[in-house]
Amino acid sequence: MAAHTFFVQPRIPEKLKPLELLALDLYWSWLKETEELFLRLDEDIWEECGHNPNLFLYQVPEERLAAASQDPHYLARLEKVWREYQDYFRSPATENLIAYFSAEFGLAQVLPIYAGGLGILAGDHLKTASDLKIPLVGVGLLYRQGYFRQKIDGLGEQREIYPRYDFYEWPVVRVRGSDGSPLMVEVDFPDRPVKVYVWEAQVGSVKLYLLDTDVPENWEADRNITDQLYGGDLEKRLQQEIILGIGGVRALKGLNLEPHVYHLNEGHSAFLALEHIRQLKETYNLDFAAARELASPSHIFTTHTPVPAGIDLFPPYLMDKYFTEYYQSLGLSRQEFLALGRKDPNNHQEPFNMAVLALRLSAWANGVSRLHGYTARKMWQMIWPEVPEEEIPIGAITNGVHVPTWVGSPMAALFDHYLGITWRTNPADKEAWRAVKEVPDIELWQAREKQREALIKFIRKKMEYNLKEQGANPKEIEEVKTILNPRALTIGFARRFAAYKRPDLLFYELERLAHIVGDPERPVQIIYAGKAHPQDEEGKKLVRQIVTYAQKEEFRGRVVFLEDYDMELARLMVQGVDVWLANPRRPLEACSTSGMKAVLNGALYISTLDGWWDEAWEMGAGWAIGQGEVYTDPSYQDALEASSLYSLLEKEVIPLFYERDEQGIPKKWLEQVKNSIKAYAPIFNSHRMVEEYAKQFYFPAARLFSRLKANDQQRARELAGFRKRVEISWGKVQVEEVKEGKDSPLIVGEELPLQVRVSLGALTPRDVKVMAYYGKMDSWGEIGEAEKVVLKVSQDLGEGRYLYEGTIPCRQSGRQGYKILVVPYQEDFPHPYYTGLVLWG
Ligand SMILES: *Cc1c(COP(=O)(O)O)cnc(C)c1O
Repeated sequence: MAAHTFFVQPRIPEKLKPLELLALDLYWSWLKETEELFLRLDEDIWEECGHNPNLFLYQVPEERLAAASQDPHYLARLEKVWREYQDYFRSPATENLIAYFSAEFGLAQVLPIYAGGLGILAGDHLKTASDLKIPLVGVGLLYRQGYFRQKIDGLGEQREIYPRYDFYEWPVVRVRGSDGSPLMVEVDFPDRPVKVYVWEAQVGSVKLYLLDTDVPENWEADRNITDQLYGGDLEKRLQQEIILGIGGVRALKGLNLEPHVYHLNEGHSAFLALEHIRQLKETYNLDFAAARELASPSHIFTTHTPVPAGIDLFPPYLMDKYFTEYYQSLGLSRQEFLALGRKDPNNHQEPFNMAVLALRLSAWANGVSRLHGYTARKMWQMIWPEVPEEEIPIGAITNGVHVPTWVGSPMAALFDHYLGITWRTNPADKEAWRAVKEVPDIELWQAREKQREALIKFIRKKMEYNLKEQGANPKEIEEVKTILNPRALTIGFARRFAAYKRPDLLFYELERLAHIVGDPERPVQIIYAGKAHPQDEEGKKLVRQIVTYAQKEEFRGRVVFLEDYDMELARLMVQGVDVWLANPRRPLEACSTSGMKAVLNGALYISTLDGWWDEAWEMGAGWAIGQGEVYTDPSYQDALEASSLYSLLEKEVIPLFYERDEQGIPKKWLEQVKNSIKAYAPIFNSHRMVEEYAKQFYFPAARLFSRLKANDQQRARELAGFRKRVEISWGKVQVEEVKEGKDSPLIVGEELPLQVRVSLGALTPRDVKVMAYYGKMDSWGEIGEAEKVVLKVSQDLGEGRYLYEGTIPCRQSGRQGYKILVVPYQEDFPHPYYTGLVLWG
């Protein structure tokens, strides 16, 4: 028989009551003073419970709490933090709510519902929305077993362990309805409904709602849908994505929230677009077309994947199994429904692609760095077959990191002192970082050394603990207590182990690397960490390789692999290393953010010109491996880039680090550190990023949604009618004649006048935009770096024919070209290619 459970709350003295609320708000993870309040109560227990304030309050002895409640110093500190906390909450906006959906969120180690970069980015996004008082809620899944914990066995093999967590230890509370019973939403699966609980995590002023199918009434298998992040087979992945997308939108409705904007952080949540359409359709009695017209402008899709293999694809039979009733409720045929997720709507074999669904149902889309925007436009060109690559409506907003979360205390103290408070509150302000140059070298160096020491100390403890756990012999355990050198140049490499990231590149020539790390005068040490995806055999092999290299005589104690890379380890590593290394194969790294975290802490970054580094790197502020070339032969590329990396280390990095003045300070190194902070910190932070999302997408999307919805959704219905009308008539639209008003050659600064006769058939000039699309001709005979000018109607020639006129400015010399471009046009279209219909003349 199941045991009857009851719950015992810790007894918190009245004066310490604020601690309970602070413990449940992840705000502590970026206001370090809050963390200190816990730590000061009992440092050992704080460590033991993994810096989890909530759990800590259950475990700290009552005497400790009683003593603190009598200690005026402690109470004064608590009051200060409490006041700041309450100030922080002043006037959060509530209009135009944004719902941010993601399969993972990395907010703090105590809530392990993330796997890597995508989740950390989502976590940083929420924290920043909170700082900026942007009205946003997060929606995700609450994985009872989180993401796997990595253990490395004696053979270097990665073992995946899924602990089963207790939610009461996590900073989450179950959402309850007004009658006190748990809020529950339902999603229909074949033959049964699946019930979903909703939990809530507080992230400063932002709420994160997390869905959980572990409901006693559910079928046993359904209770496990949300047990593991990225665990299980394809069908389970589909089930999770249905819960996230469809369940997520229903949960918001259950909470009486009506977002004006939905942000899809990667394609996992794309079913939300369908459910949003379905709800609008039902609520306002619209057909699918009008509901789609109303919904799409409020959807923003951020893609993170520059390779097709990274995208979820579901075979049609699985879609049939889960969606047959659903697409009928949308008023769609099977064919129409499946076409929404197909690159080629007419290919009946094609699987259902979540990124395609997201692109087709989101008016706004972006990649996560400049280079990735370019890659994404190339990758998704087939969705807009008539549109040239550079015009594909996928923009770019480069990722950034949440500054207060990632900067170590010694560096933070320096910044507070020399830069003032703005670097925390508004790191996107360039002025905030200007004074970095004023920081005295000696103090900067001391802060750097402190952070490195903290990392080494942590590693020693961690390795000692692991060895004891494995039952290692006392000699080994003794050795590890002094492993690594707290004064040596320390290089960090930590990220998901995937082939394109080439974690083994530094081992390309073993002897050369042995020589580099073995120099007794100028010691170098390298710290590795990273999990391989459970299904990625190649990634696991790379883990094994690095572990094996680290055991070789020439690398022992100089190269280490740390198991179980997570936020806690990431924080210590980016704070403690001198050099952060990345060497992905361009252009496969969409952005990468760990280097940004390291740079903020005064590490120097070395990377191939991929992701953010391609747009960021400046001479004298870190190093670039190669110049962004892409070779067709990957092994040739590896050889070249390994060699370039070795030379950088041998000729630049190591000499610069060890060139010391009489006080032992590496002046020139620190100059680069300051350059690097000053150049990158104001840009590659999440405040700049979220502000860009707000300006480019959130605000216009919310405005558009309101406009389309006003007066009984009048505009949405009109647009649906318009779309239908142009789809029928488009075949008749023709560019009949183009006349140039001047003979070639023209002189720079002159203009080329154009007269264009267009036949619009049943359409009128109010329905279309006629443009000249012009630019320099490239060697492929294509128009490069094109610009557009809008041509104006000058004459109605009768019978649906119109004369359009305009001029092309000739700003550059050389061979230029132009084409006439006609697109359907409505003022409420977010971009010119919104209908997908294009005519080139
Ligand atoms: C920042 C971070 C990442 C992402 O790093 P990349 O450079 O994008 O690979 C992954 N995992 C953890 C734990 C992180 O903190």
